[in-house]
Amino acid sequence: MIESQPSCTDIFESGLMPCSEALDRIMARLPKISGYERIPLQNACGRTLHEPVISHINVPPHTNSAVDGYAFYAEDIPSSNTTELNVIGQALAGKPFRGSVQKGACVRIMTGAELPPGLDVVAMQEHVGVFENHIEIDSRHKRGQNIRLAGEDLKCGETVLKPGKWLTPADIGLMASLGLTEINVNRKLKVAIASTGDELCEPGDLTSPGGIYDSNRYSLIAALTRPDIEIVNLGIIPDNAEKLLDCFNQTGRFADMILSTGGVSVGEADFTKTVLQHSGQVEFWKVAIKPGRPLAFGQIDKAAFFGLPGNPVAVLVTFYYFVLPALEQMLGITDKPVVSKLRAKASENFRKKPGRTEIQRGILSRDEEGNWRVATTGKQGSGILRSMSLANAFIVLEHEAGDVKTGEWVTVQPFAGFL
Ligand code: AMP
Ligand code: MG
Repeated sequence: MIESQPSCTDIFESGLMPCSEALDRIMARLPKISGYERIPLQNACGRTLHEPVISHINVPPHTNSAVDGYAFYAEDIPSSNTTELNVIGQALAGKPFRGSVQKGACVRIMTGAELPPGLDVVAMQEHVGVFENHIEIDSRHKRGQNIRLAGEDLKCGETVLKPGKWLTPADIGLMASLGLTEINVNRKLKVAIASTGDELCEPGDLTSPGGIYDSNRYSLIAALTRPDIEIVNLGIIPDNAEKLLDCFNQTGRFADMILSTGGVSVGEADFTKTVLQHSGQVEFWKVAIKPGRPLAFGQIDKAAFFGLPGNPVAVLVTFYYFVLPALEQMLGITDKPVVSKLRAKASENFRKKPGRTEIQRGILSRDEEGNWRVATTGKQGSGILRSMSLANAFIVLEHEAGDVKTGEWVTVQPFAGFL
């Protein structure tokens, strides 16, 4: 009798590690990288703040006008009817009015201009009667209106940004408003990327018989092109134990992370597994996720190691669900814009086996009533990269879920802000 081995086509399979457990194990083992560098403020968007930013000034520094109009004393606002105020000068942004203002007078004032001391109301020019040397105001005005107080954005001594903040354009502007020109950010992570496989050829070169072009390294390099990552391109490594080990060992001396693709399943030529499974530092898991079941994770010298599957869609799925959170933890990011998931109605039946998370590639759109709907991009094989290129969202079919019928609700992860 032939005793069958577990395979990825099995419906009921024991020993698969739930996705959440795989992610927990990864996160528990990866430290935050120490080290920081001082860089010009204008290069800091997309980097992570290393130390708190404390305001040493008030922003705005002076109480100023929020509109173009006229500044006067609230006491001069009539209780009924109208009153006239003499215009005795003007205040422009950067050119304050330096004279004194008597009761019954007003100053022409522009947006951002410093409010002359004591004046406590600004009327929009559209809300007053304008004459040659005076204006006419009615009783509608209120003390404090159209006035921006000194320090209302940032107060002197206040902590403005905390360490771990992933810096956005607004943060950069905020620090510029404090007069900063350089800041300390967590250092970049050095991530080395290798493709493994005898069949792989570099795009641009001729393919050998039975060869295919290497796409995984290109997807990963593209996904990792961001300000806080330094990419080390290790190229294509053949299915050769010695070459593989040599490359990983050398890279482990200086990289923070090594990502390799291919060679982690159970085939004859799965050298990554052959080479690393006895090292004691790298574990080979079968994760309950489709696509992306075989996954290796561990440490090679100084570097965290991820052995991702070979199939191109599985590479991207495991990258986004396991590698990216790990990278962001290592980078020390603790505060980043939220990436939201949403619920959408299935526009077709989805086949799904309970007992694993399935990440299908979908096209999310709104129907006439404005409800979110999602369809798949067609064939969902883990080697069909087009299924991902056509998609604008992942359809996340949870671990326990079975088949989904048209009209049922599913969880969707839009690519915007996620990829
Ligand atoms: P493996 O896990 O090495 O057996 O690879 C699984 C499948 O993914 C095979 O069909 C490989 O040819 C394919 N594959 C592996 N690496 C790459 C790559 N870098 N680019 C495109 N396809 C790949
Ligand atoms: Mg291979």
